[in-house]
This record gives sequence, structure tokens and C-alpha cells, in this order.
Amino acid sequence: MSAFPPNPDAERMVRFQTESRGVRDARVLDAMRRVPRDRFVPAGHRADAWADRPVPIGHGQTISQPFMVALMTEALGLRGSERVLEVGTGSGYQAAVLGELASEVFTVERIAELAGTAARTLEDLGCANVTVVIGDGCRGLAEHAPFDAILVAAAAPAVPGALRDQLADGGILVVPIGESAGVQVLTMVRREGARFTIEEGTGCRFVPLIGEGAFDA
Ligand code: SAM
Repeated sequence: MSAFPPNPDAERMVRFQTESRGVRDARVLDAMRRVPRDRFVPAGHRADAWADRPVPIGHGQTISQPFMVALMTEALGLRGSERVLEVGTGSGYQAAVLGELASEVFTVERIAELAGTAARTLEDLGCANVTVVIGDGCRGLAEHAPFDAILVAAAAPAVPGALRDQLADGGILVVPIGESAGVQVLTMVRREGARFTIEEGTGCRFVPLIGEGAFDA
């Protein structure tokens, strides 16, 4: 991503919404200081860009709360060399943060208009290692698998099997699991060879994952 001058709004967001709630990974915090979140928010909602909540981006979708972006990103434990898949591009903000922390990011969005806007924003900002794909992310992206890390930015009724199968050995998948309109649980799936372990984290609230094996539109 192109270099941006220090931003006091980003600094406040990181300090009071993420660090203060226990996010410790310095690389994640630095990435969130650098990525200009306001560029991913529609003009009519710019004033809310740094607020401690999800913000509407059109089509009934939202850019996730900064804390949730930080928490899910930290859970992936990225060190810089990874190939990452995100399901649910939305505004492209989460993908830009992942792009600062990993080698290559693929992000899938089912709503073509959102994908187009996100791709343009990412290109304008020089996020050259992020590729936006239009489609049903429940199927993953077999042609680019395996992935060292997969982040699902929408709530699924259960761990999507195709995504689990596209994890690299030693890889991790983070996905909110639960009812489409209720409280969900942030769930981490780790792969060690043929063995998968599941760990449940904090409660969360995401828009539904819509597609094969998930919720209906
Ligand atoms: N990560 C996004 C950001 O940084 O702005 C926020 C994601 S928003 C909470 C969830 C997104 O998932 C929506 O844009 C929605 O259209 C998308 N989505 C839902 N089901 C999907 C699917 N099966 N494949 C791809 N995208 C999906």
C-alpha cells in the first residue's frame, strides 16, 4: 500500500478500541494505523468511519467494527509470508489490513457492485497484493488453495467444509458461527495434517454468509 501520513483518528481508534480491549499483536495494530479506513466508507457515512461500530456500505451490508477486524486478524497470527483468503470483501478494508500483513490476499464477494467498489479503492491505495473475486466464497477458491489463513467476515451456520478443506497444513480458519440474526461465536479451526481442532472465542454479531451450505438469500 502507498505510504500515508500518520492519522490521529486511526491512532485513537487503535488505542481506545483495540489495544485497550486486549489486542496485542504490534503488526496488526500498525497495519490498522496505516490503512485509511475512511477511504472504504461511503461518502455519506465518512463521519462514522472511525466509530466503534459497524458502518453501512450499501446493499444491507457493513464494514465490520474495528475491534472485530483487529481480533480476527490477530487470531490468524500472520507473519508476512502467508497466502490468505477472505470471504466477504464488503468495502475491502479488512482485505487491505490483511494485505499489509501477508504476502498474498484473495478476497471473495458475492455482490458484484460491492466487489467493484472495493477493487477500485484497493487499487487507488496501491494494495497490489490483494485480488478481489466475485462469487460464492462458501466454495473457497480451489484454484489458489491451499491457504495458510482464511477469514470469513460473515456468519455461517457451521464451518464451511470447502474452506476447511482448502486450509494448508498448519493453517487457521476464523469464522463466526451461529444463527443468522442472533449472537454468534467467533470460531477458530486449525489444521495439523489430517487433524482439525476447533476453538471457540468471543461472542460476535455479523451479517449472514449467503451461499452453498450457508444461509439462503
Ligand atoms: N470484510 C468487510 C469489510 O472490511 O468491509 C466486511 C464484510 S461484511 C460484514 C460481510 C460481507 O460478506 C458482505 O459484503 C456480504 O455481501 C458478503 N458475503 C455474504 N455471503 C457471501 C458469500 N457466500 N461469498 C462472498 N461474500 C459473501
